[in-house]
Amino acid sequence: MKQYTHYIGGEHLPGTSGRVAPIFNPSTGVQSAEVPLAAKSEVEDAIASAQAAFPAWAATSVLKRSRIMTRFTALLYEHQAELAELVSLEHGKVIEDAMGSVLRGIEVAEFACGIPHLQKGEFSDSVANGIDIYSLRKPLGVVAGITPFNFPAMIPLWMAGMAIATGNTFVMKPSEKDPGCPMRIAELFLEAGGPAGVFNVVNGDKVAVDTLLYDSRIKAVSFVGSTPIARYVYETATKNGKRCQAMGGAKNHMLILPDANLEGVANALMGAAFGSAGERCMAISVGVCVGDEVADKLIELLTPRIKALKIGTSLETGLEMGPLVTKEHRAKVMNYIQMGVDEGADLLIDGRDFVLEGHEEGYFLGGSLFDNVKKDMRSYKEEIFGPVLQLMRVQSFEEGLALATDHEYGNGTSIFTQSGAAARTYADRVEVGMVGINVPIPVPLAFHSFGGWKASSFGDHNQYGQEGMRFYTKVKTVTARWAESTIEADFSIPTLK
Ligand code: NAD
Repeated sequence: MKQYTHYIGGEHLPGTSGRVAPIFNPSTGVQSAEVPLAAKSEVEDAIASAQAAFPAWAATSVLKRSRIMTRFTALLYEHQAELAELVSLEHGKVIEDAMGSVLRGIEVAEFACGIPHLQKGEFSDSVANGIDIYSLRKPLGVVAGITPFNFPAMIPLWMAGMAIATGNTFVMKPSEKDPGCPMRIAELFLEAGGPAGVFNVVNGDKVAVDTLLYDSRIKAVSFVGSTPIARYVYETATKNGKRCQAMGGAKNHMLILPDANLEGVANALMGAAFGSAGERCMAISVGVCVGDEVADKLIELLTPRIKALKIGTSLETGLEMGPLVTKEHRAKVMNYIQMGVDEGADLLIDGRDFVLEGHEEGYFLGGSLFDNVKKDMRSYKEEIFGPVLQLMRVQSFEEGLALATDHEYGNGTSIFTQSGAAARTYADRVEVGMVGINVPIPVPLAFHSFGGWKASSFGDHNQYGQEGMRFYTKVKTVTARWAESTIEADFSIPTLK
């Protein structure tokens, strides 16, 4: 059985706290590894290592940082298949999906190679006699990343790519459910020529997170996970004087208008609701049908597709869905299905009956489909995070728009229609951070930025893109006079005379 370590100052260090967590292969239910859960002192060692590496890394020329990022990106591409296999084995998503998710992370490292351009400051020439003003973007110091289980390569790379390229040193605390990838990614950074101590990985749970949140040497915290923890992390980090971005949970609606091509909608919904077994913060979990005709036709199209979902173990190719991440998470999703039934929604397809022959101990579920879900139901208000699609029936565009707008979460949403005017109005008015128009999962590419609204995100900056660069840097503005004339005494605030 694999024994994970911490990765501090470029060295693998075994855990010393005496606390460990098991890692299971979700396809078989068999334990594959053990991860140490750090004590406060181990996290402090990681912070100290990052603190020691900071002055030299911050002073490293931006071109050199960019070249290391370029070699790092090349190595990530070389190891994409290896990382994807780790994702599949520990998370359970099927291998093609895992390959795609790793790629979306590598793209952020690739974007960060352009840091000489991205981190350029601003310059105003001759604002007064002999005076120029320029602003610089300086790194913050030691920054921390805390990540969820559902994208064990992509989300660590969202954070590490931008944090390190901007000249910070980094302490990563991955999900204890699937910690394999971040460790491997940090090793590749060193192999690319990155200095020891710039990219540290400390494994653990709340003890590790709290140490990062309270230690004054940590200048910024980037968090992605569930909303209750995101809120706690944001409140605690900011109370302790840190910059913080904390992304939380989601309930993503797809509004389907009567003029949409319903065959296309059904196909889009299948991937968006059931891909990665619904364990994506951008999964579509609610289909909002405008008119009963749309709902009835969509159910007719979805039913055979859901019943024929190709479900199997995560390393098999050509599949559509693997198992859920843990036995506990599977039980939680099953409870939500029962809750939906108890609340009076119509369960048209019950995925709880699914069994994969020969893998009875794996954490599998089939796809589930609900109709007539209502907005006061708890199973609608809360995030299920599993292969469950809830259909709602509304009578107008406005009613559908209001559902997504009024929901507590505001991560992603999409609209399917042939009407440019309706799509434009929806994108303009809906209170959600990321919108797809005839695109089911609108995850922005690395040169834009990722972030929801309302209870899906706390803090002021999005992940990656120029937003990521801003999050990981602080502005210093210099006003400089280089003139021949002498300076006269002036007791008023400086103004241009
Ligand atoms: P989680 O909140 O349980 O865990 C996230 C991280 O927080 C982990 O590293 C975990 O160790 C740590 N943590 C857990 N409990 C803690 C506690 N009490 N105190 C301090 N730290 C704690 O989330 P998860 O189950 O790993 O991930 C799934 C969730 O993440 C879903 O809600 C999903 O929507 C969300 N998510 C959001 C985004 C986004 O960008 N908005 C992206 C991916 C996932």
